[in-house]
Amino acid sequence: MGCKNHPNVVAADRCAGCAESFCQDCLVDIGGQKYCGSCKVMALQGRPVAAAATTPCKEADEALKYAIIGIFCFGIILEPMAIAKALKAKNLINASPNLTGSGKANAALIIGIVGLILWVLGLFMRISQTR
Ligand SMILES: [Zn+2]
Ligand SMILES: [Zn+2]
Repeated sequence: MGCKNHPNVVAADRCAGCAESFCQDCLVDIGGQKYCGSCKVMALQGRPVAAAATTPCKEADEALKYAIIGIFCFGIILEPMAIAKALKAKNLINASPNLTGSGKANAALIIGIVGLILWVLGLFMRISQTR
């Protein structure tokens, strides 16, 4: 059987989308499946949706890490950084639907704010005790 686009060329494989026969030049490998030129577009458009659940937002991870470390040390510096990163992560997640981690970003935001309050209170306590 010949390629649908090039009738005089022997078909190498079938398209995973339309099941028509195509030659090696016409087929594109996407995620282990072979697609023809027109089905490739559809397959590529489908991919960001499929990958949506698997792209965690790096900012949210970092924000949560800073927030947790900040509870124990350097909270005055780390908690504001965690809050800033959490807000940035929330913006990034809102802007692109293929990012996950809004739960982490929210957690980082809450821990960051609570951590910062604790550190500020701790500082006030220390100042009042030295009087
Ligand atoms: Zn096709
Ligand atoms: Zn061809």
